[in-house]
Amino acid sequence: MKNVYNFAPGPAMLPRPVMKKAQEEFLDWNGTGMSVMEVSHRSKEFIALAEESEADLRDVLGIPSNYKVLFMQGGATSQFAMVPMNLLQGGKSADYIHTGSWSVKAYKEAQRHGKVRVAATSKEQNYMTIPERSTWQLDKDAAYVYYCSNETIGGVEFQSIPDVGAVPLVADMTSHALSRPIDVSKFGIIIAGSQKNIGPAGLVLVIIREDLIGTESAHLPSLLDYAHMAANESMSNTPPTFSWYIAALVFKWIKAEGGLKAMEQNAIKRSGKLYAAIDASGFYQNPVDKRYRSRMNVTFTLKDANLDGKFLQEAKAAGLEALKGHRSVGGMRASIYNAMPMEGVDALITLMQEFERKHG
Ligand code: PMP
Repeated sequence: MKNVYNFAPGPAMLPRPVMKKAQEEFLDWNGTGMSVMEVSHRSKEFIALAEESEADLRDVLGIPSNYKVLFMQGGATSQFAMVPMNLLQGGKSADYIHTGSWSVKAYKEAQRHGKVRVAATSKEQNYMTIPERSTWQLDKDAAYVYYCSNETIGGVEFQSIPDVGAVPLVADMTSHALSRPIDVSKFGIIIAGSQKNIGPAGLVLVIIREDLIGTESAHLPSLLDYAHMAANESMSNTPPTFSWYIAALVFKWIKAEGGLKAMEQNAIKRSGKLYAAIDASGFYQNPVDKRYRSRMNVTFTLKDANLDGKFLQEAKAAGLEALKGHRSVGGMRASIYNAMPMEGVDALITLMQEFERKHG
């Protein structure tokens, strides 16, 4: 098998021990003689998996007991609609912070479902920074304040949780969930699509404070109603069982590796080394405000964009996959989630230095 380091932004690299374990029990899960993907979601074995995975996630993240964890479908994008559909009933309004593509997308979707305002934006800085908290024009009566805590495309990450007073804070943590300890009690809702640090695509985790769940709506589609999903333990219909199973293995892997503190230490080391290599060269550049550089998605441009194709070709030949930046920004992006070993970053830095020597 080819030895590859996969820098894709998502679906992304998963921990090798998780993949090995899934491979070992692929045809015979838990002594059932069946693959986990062939087993009923209502079987006692699968219910046990679901309960244990939630317990592990609660343990890893330190989720307080007044929060529900929902294992949902529809990707993180479905939550761009579900949050306003559920929280803006009765004509309330919500505040959005624009820091890049994903927060802007969430806002545009929310506009279809209720009243929303932009309370702060870094558009003029090309979304390469985060607007100072003191400049946010928050509405104290808003139903919630929404932000994306790691902008996957721009590579911009909040390094602390913004204080928005008593208004519930909603965060899209899709691309840095489980990469650092967080204080869940500071949030109203946390959204995390799975295909970066959690598992395969198909699942989105919603961690929601119970008082925001409300009662079942008479008009919302039941699968888009937090109250309905919470009342049915995320099993109102058939969930993506295989994705859930892999996520359960990932939670156990994180625990075995030393939890979120260990994930954070690794993320600091990986990203720190890569940014240092970029900053030390006259050939590569990262445009993000240093205070908010993402530990998960490291973007960089080459001095001469005409060399991009050659760089990607040489990277691929060296087993370094999926480094092409998002089509909206160009250049390169190395997504280095929890599963990326340090050796992958070292291999990338070596390639970058060799490429600079040859072409710089
Ligand atoms: N939010 C963020 C921060 C993302 O990175 C992504 C996907 N890359 C999404 C939302 C959308 O996720 P999905 O494609 O699962 O709907």
